Amino acid sequence: MNKEKALENLDKLIADVEDARLQLSEHHIVKIIGISKYSTSEDVATLYSAGQRAFGENKVQDLKEKMNTLEELPLEWHFVGRLQKNKINNLIDLKPTLMQSLDSLDLAQELNKKLEAKNQKMNCLLQINSAKEESKAGVMPEVAVKIYKEILETCPYIKLKGVMSIGAHVEDKEVIEKSFNTTKTIFDELKPFGAKYCSMGMSGDFKLAIKCGSNMIRVGSTLFK
Ligand SMILES: *Cc1c(COP(=O)(O)O)cnc(C)c1O
Repeated sequence: MNKEKALENLDKLIADVEDARLQLSEHHIVKIIGISKYSTSEDVATLYSAGQRAFGENKVQDLKEKMNTLEELPLEWHFVGRLQKNKINNLIDLKPTLMQSLDSLDLAQELNKKLEAKNQKMNCLLQINSAKEESKAGVMPEVAVKIYKEILETCPYIKLKGVMSIGAHVEDKEVIEKSFNTTKTIFDELKPFGAKYCSMGMSGDFKLAIKCGSNMIRVGSTLFK
């Protein structure tokens, strides 16, 4: 990807995001996370030069490599993948800006224990399996509020900042919208408990996600094409 292409991709994305967010309210701000998992560090640097600062990876090893390669740049790094228990310490050492894929109470308690041992805190989002898809990680919507509060009470080294979810993996827009609305309803219920981010929407469905109230989108393929 050359700089021109990066500018073009980013311009198009920002215009689409503007369009979607203004349909909600001019006060509705959406943060864009560039998901670089299929791309090189070089492409991340090119997008940075075009104005993009926040990036995300779904594997701890890849996150580590890109963070190291690009350490001179003032980037913000997010983790969005399944976290295996044997990689927890590696992730803690990377000090990500936001760990978006906390997908069970069990993982939260294990992460909390290891954070405590290192006397470090981590910003996290609780991942919700809003479409109840077997292939997807996350807590079920019915228990999401309860688990969120349980993490708040039992995991002082985890700073919960909101929720994350992946839209239903189907063609039917109404079904996708329903899955976003499910997450948004939970987010609203958690706002009094400090939830700030409702992370939903990817390349194929971010406009719909924003219309449903998302304030953080994770865009990979359309940004890095
Ligand atoms: C890969 C990935 C994305 C980005 O997906 P695109 O469809 O390429 O935009 C977003 N969120 C998560 C959790 C991902 O793993």
